[in-house]
Amino acid sequence: MRKEPETSKRGHVPVRMCMGCHQRKKKEMLIRLVKNADGAFSLDETRQRDGRGYYLCRDRACLKMAQKRIKGLGDPGMGG
Ligand SMILES: [Zn+2]
Repeated sequence: MRKEPETSKRGHVPVRMCMGCHQRKKKEMLIRLVKNADGAFSLDETRQRDGRGYYLCRDRACLKMAQKRIKGLGDPGMGG
């Protein structure tokens, strides 16, 4: 009896912590912000930009919590 390789057990899902509520969620559930050299944050729609990435739920409440903690966060243009 031959052993089958367990290719189906690739369940690794990248998770990131929301900087607002500090819950861990799948990356796709979060928006990515990038801090630029000026210390300003901007929304990274492509998730490909260089720089330190920060993650946040798509939720105004989380944005507000993050704004209280992080100076310079401002309003990165999440819309809503
Ligand atoms: Zn959150």
